[in-house]
Amino acid sequence: MKRTRPPKRKLKRSEPKLREPEAADPRSIDDDPVVQGILTAISQKRLKPGAKLGEDKLAAAFGTTRIHIRQALSHLASRKVVMQIPNRGAFVYRPSWAEAQDIFAARRIIETAAVSAAVDRLDKAGKAELKAHMEREARHDRNDRWASLSLTAEFHILVARLAGNRVLLEMSRELMLRTSLAIATFEQPGEPDCSPDAHPDIGALILARDKAGAVHAMRHHIEEMEQRIRPKEGEDEVDELTAIFLEIGARARAGG
Ligand SMILES: [Zn+2]
Repeated sequence: MKRTRPPKRKLKRSEPKLREPEAADPRSIDDDPVVQGILTAISQKRLKPGAKLGEDKLAAAFGTTRIHIRQALSHLASRKVVMQIPNRGAFVYRPSWAEAQDIFAARRIIETAAVSAAVDRLDKAGKAELKAHMEREARHDRNDRWASLSLTAEFHILVARLAGNRVLLEMSRELMLRTSLAIATFEQPGEPDCSPDAHPDIGALILARDKAGAVHAMRHHIEEMEQRIRPKEGEDEVDELTAIFLEIGARARAGG
């Protein structure tokens, strides 16, 4: 059967590039339900760093094959969200203290640049999106911890999207995820990921096109987040190395 082509839509010059469909995102494998499910569980901190990701259990939970699960885990490993150790399986990635600090340093650079570009490019549609998001944050029930975590992360991703740079957006997405792992590993009990009052301030400064103010507020917000994590005593070096030497030890015993 011949398919009729949809009529070509004329791209108007005034239409900003950032409204392109998300399908062009090279990370569309993220739409895979297994990848999506694991990412959501990690970003909502239901899956903790170091948690074992058993192929059989995941296959049963998602109603899919082990091959599918393995592909999804390999993809997540390439994004530093999952750590695969030969003969031991896959685990939720656990960043080291140094890496957690690097993640926040990278966020300071990337997100201050993003908020600056977002102010420069702000148009009517962007304003409406930002306002709608701020209303959602103001309305939402803070007792719903899972929804709350997703919503606060979305604010940062929205700012990167308003900057209109796809690469910046991808880096932001990745950093948000790695931040979740860093916070989950080193947080002090009971602290939220984002201070709830910072987003309305940053949003208002963007809407007012106060670039210097918005950049300053974003940097301050990220620094505040970083101050809430603390190295764990004696655990600064517990990371991949520990896992690797555990593995070597296990092998030596097995071979000895
Ligand atoms: Zn925030």
